[in-house]
Amino acid sequence: MKAVQGKPQHDRGGHHRETTSERQTPWQSIGISGMRNFISDRALSEKAALFLDVDGTMIDFAASPAEVFVPAKLIQVLDALERRLCGALALISGRTVAELDRLFRPLSLRAGGVHGAEMRYEPVPRLPTVEAARVLSANLWRSLNEMLDEFPGVFAENKRYSFAIHYRASPDLGPRLLNALRAFVVASGEDEWEIISAHFAFEIKGSGFDKGAAIEQFLARSPFTGRVPIFIGDDWTDESGFAAVARVGGTAYSVGEARPHVSGVFPDPASVREWLELAAAQMAPS
Ligand SMILES: [Mg+2]
Repeated sequence: MKAVQGKPQHDRGGHHRETTSERQTPWQSIGISGMRNFISDRALSEKAALFLDVDGTMIDFAASPAEVFVPAKLIQVLDALERRLCGALALISGRTVAELDRLFRPLSLRAGGVHGAEMRYEPVPRLPTVEAARVLSANLWRSLNEMLDEFPGVFAENKRYSFAIHYRASPDLGPRLLNALRAFVVASGEDEWEIISAHFAFEIKGSGFDKGAAIEQFLARSPFTGRVPIFIGDDWTDESGFAAVARVGGTAYSVGEARPHVSGVFPDPASVREWLELAAAQMAPS
């Protein structure tokens, strides 16, 4: 992992401890070992809250969202981390909570699903939803699918509070698809709908909920209250989350590329999984 805002490290005496190799790159490398020290500080690990995006962050992308592979080891690690953080761990995803349960079975983790439209504050098999989120209509779903007939290889996913339109199989269609979706939203006469951009996908959603708001709602509740949030995400839809943790003195990390408010970048989901495993091991009761 690499730090983006290359703050040189100073010891208490103010001596500069930056190494030659760190000076050679604009991104100061804090490395996995730096993060290990961070999380293994007992005082801090007992005060940390972990928020994790799923696709592109902890698991690798596949041809379609249904085809992703969740390593069994990751499920074990999340289970351990959740217990060692006294429950202060939540998935913050564009997927529905039901989908998250399917992926991480048998775990039933705290989660903000569909970008925070579905909030599960406690890991019980109930699915309370934020009042701000409105279910999109069946008519809209039908006309969206009719419109998408013109886009071979593109398919839509109905997440009730949002419609995700995936174009990974036809990446060249992206710009034309976005224009068509904009026209579609305008023609619908709804001024509350917005189009957000994810990894080879666009999403039509209502306004009033996003990943940042989901994280804020968790932080206002037990067992997250008073803990320092860490959020790891990978795409544009995570940026409201990065901003939310930065506002309260937490730390944001992105995957793949640097984004506003992040202090480090993991190269890929495999390195995030490796870090989560190290964190879980470091927090294991000795
Ligand atoms: Mg993602």
